[in-house]
Amino acid sequence: MAKNSFQALPGTRDLQSPDTDRMRALVAVFADEVSAAGFGQIVQPMFEDVRVFDRLGEASDVVAKELYAFEDKGGRHIALRPEFTASACRMFAELRPLTPWKAWYSGPAFRYDKPQAGRYRQFDQVGAEVIGSHDPDVDTELIALASRFYQRLGLTDVTLLMNSLGDAADRPRYLDALRGHFEANLDSLSEQSRTTLAVNPLRVLDSKRREDAALIEAAPVLRDYLSDEAASAFARVCDGLDSLGVAYEIAPRLVRGLDYYTRTTFEFAANSLEGAQNAVGGGGRYDGLVADLGGPDEPGVGFALGVDRTLLACDAEGVFDAPETTMDVWVVSTSDGLEALAITEELRRAGLRADRNFDGRSMRAQMKAANRSDAAIAVIIGEDEVADQTVTIRPLRTEGDQVTVARAQLVPAVKEMRQS
Ligand code: AMP
Repeated sequence: MAKNSFQALPGTRDLQSPDTDRMRALVAVFADEVSAAGFGQIVQPMFEDVRVFDRLGEASDVVAKELYAFEDKGGRHIALRPEFTASACRMFAELRPLTPWKAWYSGPAFRYDKPQAGRYRQFDQVGAEVIGSHDPDVDTELIALASRFYQRLGLTDVTLLMNSLGDAADRPRYLDALRGHFEANLDSLSEQSRTTLAVNPLRVLDSKRREDAALIEAAPVLRDYLSDEAASAFARVCDGLDSLGVAYEIAPRLVRGLDYYTRTTFEFAANSLEGAQNAVGGGGRYDGLVADLGGPDEPGVGFALGVDRTLLACDAEGVFDAPETTMDVWVVSTSDGLEALAITEELRRAGLRADRNFDGRSMRAQMKAANRSDAAIAVIIGEDEVADQTVTIRPLRTEGDQVTVARAQLVPAVKEMRQS
């Protein structure tokens, strides 16, 4: 490597067109869906006081190992956001908007994860949160919204996994049972999971280590420990999904990676992707998180979808291609004057996609660029056109003759040819 050359850091990527066009289009589809459902966009800071994220769970990998945390020059302990929900709750607690507060977001999140296909240290999420309602129909609406979004992208092979984690009061009895189960079989548990067990037995269910699989399979399930209220709320969500025709599977051991979830939890798995990286999105209820962050005791529910992984799933299913970004017009000028500059600007102001060459290239080189650009039309200005105050308009992709029109007729003539 040459002395002064740098590369993007592990787990980060440089994206350019058409990948960026595709990502923007995906966010636009999401924005369209959430706006139509009454959500307003929020933009949160990319970094927060590190304590905002502590509630994600000291036994969760996201906090224990993956946080980009550091001290800033003012001596503050801050962290790059590893996800959006905690900072949305901090924002709600601080601004106290009217409830129910329906907010959506998009942007990058940061986790010091082990980089591999579909797992990055900087990745993008889109998501939606509703704060201020206990109604399980809100959970149903959010899940239906996410699945509608996947459908609009064209994805068909995505499985919705559903579980309920119960209320805070249901937890201790279940955790005792779970701890008892794992402690009775400590020898068969991975060393990593033994450490996790001491901090939070629930997290052991999240282990993807092969040696833990059998023991996790045999573990007691939370569903058997739900309070009547939590059980009937979950039944209502399932009934709602049934009534909307949204298919799902009950996954009794789905706990998800963050500690704040209560009641409904769900995950979307893309069957077209590798097992370990097939989660394209997920979410759930987090009643209690807003109060924990110093806000009023308002319940919340939401989801976040991984943009990068969703696009990988789109690749695997061969859907949601990058949108067309070809030019309408390529301006070719062999005059030395300012005509090309003025004409390109005029076309763009008229709403046409127009580009041109620079650096005094030859006519041949400019026509080659016009063809490479996929532009439908070339607008040509040579010495004759400059002298006569005209422009020549030539179709590049269709049969038909070029026309020379008065300079003032540029835009209408281009638009007419574009439509023919
Ligand atoms: P989580 O907040 O962990 O539930 O993540 C929500 C979604 O974000 C996941 O389902 C993934 O699609 C995506 N995601 C999480 N971590 C990463 C990562 N390190 N790289 C890429 N995508 C990720």
